[in-house]
Amino acid sequence: MRWRTLVPAVLVAALASWPVSAAAKLYVVTTTEDLAAITREVGGDRIDVEAIARGYQDPHFVEAKPSFILKLQRANLLIVVGRELEVGWLPPLIQQSRNTKIQVGAENYLDASARVKILDIPTGEITRAMGDVHPLGNPHYWLDPENGRIMAKAILAALVRLQPVDRAYFEQREADFERRVREAEKRWDAMMAPYKGLKAVTYHRSLPNFAGRFGLNIIGYVEPRPGIPPTPGHTLALINEMTRQNVKLVLVEPYFDLKTPNAIGRSTGAKVLVMPPSVGGVKEITDYVKLFDYNINLLVSAIKSLSS
Ligand SMILES: [Zn+2]
Repeated sequence: MRWRTLVPAVLVAALASWPVSAAAKLYVVTTTEDLAAITREVGGDRIDVEAIARGYQDPHFVEAKPSFILKLQRANLLIVVGRELEVGWLPPLIQQSRNTKIQVGAENYLDASARVKILDIPTGEITRAMGDVHPLGNPHYWLDPENGRIMAKAILAALVRLQPVDRAYFEQREADFERRVREAEKRWDAMMAPYKGLKAVTYHRSLPNFAGRFGLNIIGYVEPRPGIPPTPGHTLALINEMTRQNVKLVLVEPYFDLKTPNAIGRSTGAKVLVMPPSVGGVKEITDYVKLFDYNINLLVSAIKSLSS
């Protein structure tokens, strides 16, 4: 009976021609959409990736949902921003997932902040009792494309380790991502060059990496401290300082109340601009390069409208 030997041979041949990853796709969970976007750049269609927080939410304060625990239970890899960005909501979710591989410090828990450039590292003692949500330096570091590339490299290393059969594919995609970011940076630099040193105020300290990279001078914040809501005294001092330095731009993350920024705008004549600091912050920002494209376009149009 020839077919008895033939059929398995055909099956074996068919299986061998399938990409192994189709049989067991790596499932990656990230805390934010920025991390998911970079992971998608590297992993392409050989992985599945989902973010927990949405880009229009404040990543410091995410409301925990049971569905998050289900995601974490299935995760082969968890990628976090780190620097305590998620400390207010993530630890109980990880714990309740009972997934031993993604517990803090476990082999499939990746803290993307390990090698990036971190700003605002406190010199004195800062405790969470003071309400400051940036006690380990500024966790909004993904807003510098240089850090984006460093994050992509760390993600590449994790994907290669967990799914080595796709090494060449991941490496090629990561290199392509870096190349596209570098090319886009030339465009962003050209657009921002005329406004080097332009003074602005931001609501939260989300933008030091962005400002440092693209030449904005952030002279103050609507929040007295990261995570502390505005107080009348602080707002008054900020208005006085903005008036003294002739600051005409207030940048606000989409998840903050506009009442105080608008009052500051009325007192100083400054323009209040809602600027999404994350992928998914508005529907047009679907990937990491578009995050900068969108915000730089937004900023430049706002600055032009100030001087016209
Ligand atoms: Zn923050």
